[in-house]
Amino acid sequence: MSVSDFQPVIGLEVHGQLLTKSKIFCGCSTEFGAPPNAHTCAVCLGMPGVLPVLNAQVVEFAIRAGRALGCRINPVSIWARKNYFYPDLPKGYQISQYDLPLCEHGGLAIDTDAGPRTVRIRRIHLEEDAGKNVHDPGGGESLVDLNRSGVPLVEIVSEPDLRSSAEAVEYLKALRDILVYLEVNDGNLEEGSFRCDANVSVMRKNATEYGTRVELKNINSFRFVQKAIDYEIDRQVELIESGRKVALETRLYDAVKGETRSMRSKEEAHDYRYFPEPDLPPLRIPPGLVERIEKELPELPRAKLERFEKEYGLSAYDAKILVADRALADFFEQVAKAYGGPAKKLANWFTGELLRLLKEAGTALSALRFGPPQLAALLKMVDAGELSNNAAKDVFAELFHTGREPKDIAQEKGLIQVQDTGAVDAAVDAVLSANPGEVEKYRAGKKQVFGFLVGQVMRAMKGKGNPALVNAALKARLGE
Ligand SMILES: [Zn+2]
Repeated sequence: MSVSDFQPVIGLEVHGQLLTKSKIFCGCSTEFGAPPNAHTCAVCLGMPGVLPVLNAQVVEFAIRAGRALGCRINPVSIWARKNYFYPDLPKGYQISQYDLPLCEHGGLAIDTDAGPRTVRIRRIHLEEDAGKNVHDPGGGESLVDLNRSGVPLVEIVSEPDLRSSAEAVEYLKALRDILVYLEVNDGNLEEGSFRCDANVSVMRKNATEYGTRVELKNINSFRFVQKAIDYEIDRQVELIESGRKVALETRLYDAVKGETRSMRSKEEAHDYRYFPEPDLPPLRIPPGLVERIEKELPELPRAKLERFEKEYGLSAYDAKILVADRALADFFEQVAKAYGGPAKKLANWFTGELLRLLKEAGTALSALRFGPPQLAALLKMVDAGELSNNAAKDVFAELFHTGREPKDIAQEKGLIQVQDTGAVDAAVDAVLSANPGEVEKYRAGKKQVFGFLVGQVMRAMKGKGNPALVNAALKARLGE
């Protein structure tokens, strides 16, 4: 048996919670973490006789995502009832879109081992989230929390264009980055506001038809996506190789055991008895809305990445780190403008010191105590030879925690390098007369002694000598 005789085929369905303040069909708050059932009303509790009213912001956010992913926005789309019973769905159906979704026929570019490739996006539709069942692990009561009931979701469905678990993860990361950039989703997998189901099948490499697919649910981290898909590929190949069949089913990923297990036989669309939602008219997009939203789209991660490499001459590695967070990228550009020096040097400060301190302190970029001018001033001091690189790191740590002016910090800490050539010359003279033997060796051709002499001068100046000045003064004295 060999997995390499088979071609995995993967399609992903992503549910992303839209970042509106209120739910999709009522005015209840969408805030996460409230006491159970605090954010509910007759509409999202599914009481009989109530009517849903569409939240316009939901539609705008979905169009934003749709256009950023190259989709066509259908001028008319239809709400549909998806019928099923579950305790967290008191009205017995979910309002979704079926036949005619809001967005169709888009694509998302990802990087693969064989170069960049576009994964087709079949559709993006709107729907409401269900509630949440909370089961007592001791086997006692089960409780229902309907805070999430009616929270707006986009479901983004890819074509089965992905060919490995690594590509699936690449696609998900790119998709999440875009949604977060668009400020329509917070990209939080742990809180379930960005959720992924994967349809996985395998086919022999020369086959022309896809194999039977299995839907994997309950995957709440990128690492688990990769593991769950890899496990599933192995399981399916083993079944086929031993002459058995892959069953059409939904399987849950068990992160503790690192395996998938059968949850239920896969439901088909007809099981849901979809029909047009009688309480909502077709969704008609007013003329000009799509164009307006398009104009307001921010620069997307991929375009920004390319621009950072070109405009600032950064490596792909550095650019990727900076662009991963839109706020970080913005901050970088502001400092770059205020600084005006080499961008590569600035990038090093970002990927090194700044990110390290942010992580250590658990601080969000939005809570920084200093602005672009302070960091720019610090870098200019280094460039002017007033601060050594190491001293600048000290000053930066203080700047990070207090937001005080770098010049004040450097002076107070006594870190300003001596620019006074008289002081440097005096130190050089003292060192040379204290080390006649070394000077002799140097003059006899042992050039590596120079480094030792520089070290002695720096030591005599308590590290505050400007290395460029010290070097020049030593060379002059030694007759070079
Ligand atoms: Zn409500």
